[in-house]
Amino acid sequence: MTAARIRFSIRRGVATSFFILLAAMVSSAQFAETANAQTPPLANVPGTNPIIFGVPVFCNDANGTPVSFVFGNINQLALSQITPQGAPIMVFSPTAMTTPRPLLLFFYAHECSHHTLGHLIVWAQTGQMVPTAEPDADCNAATLVQQQGLLSQQDITTVANSVFPNPHFPPMYPAGPIRAQHILDCYNASAQGQSPPPPPPLPY
Ligand SMILES: [Zn+2]
Repeated sequence: MTAARIRFSIRRGVATSFFILLAAMVSSAQFAETANAQTPPLANVPGTNPIIFGVPVFCNDANGTPVSFVFGNINQLALSQITPQGAPIMVFSPTAMTTPRPLLLFFYAHECSHHTLGHLIVWAQTGQMVPTAEPDADCNAATLVQQQGLLSQQDITTVANSVFPNPHFPPMYPAGPIRAQHILDCYNASAQGQSPPPPPPLPY
């Protein structure tokens, strides 16, 4: 078991009690691979310290509040919310139990990035989404999994290939090929010690 953990910087913000959603748009065709029977895809869930394919992870939001991983019957792989009680959570579909390791780690990091980058808090405060929230979460996630050695070049290519077929879904999601390239560009920039590239130009 690796000791690698997904860590995120903590920023101060205001508490919020809004209930808002951010979806991780991924195609359903990517779930064909079954989990290795020796390593459960998910353990220690629900909770704030899930174990994903043997990797213990955690996530704090922009206020430093631990984000809980829960299961829910949703029609995409994952989404992020702040509950009416003000608790930051990420909800994963039961299909996460058969989601390949690279995708599950990446989309955990993606959902966490929404919380860490304050996207949900901005929405709660203003009623507006950060226009580049989805590419920003993708880029932050790609950078994290590279820096922490969680995903290889082959793994991030698997992630990019999984989003490549996605349609353009305005106003938050650029077309799949653009999103896929941005994920690869962010990963590669991190691997080369460079600053992350800017998000694809608006509008999406
Ligand atoms: Zn998202």
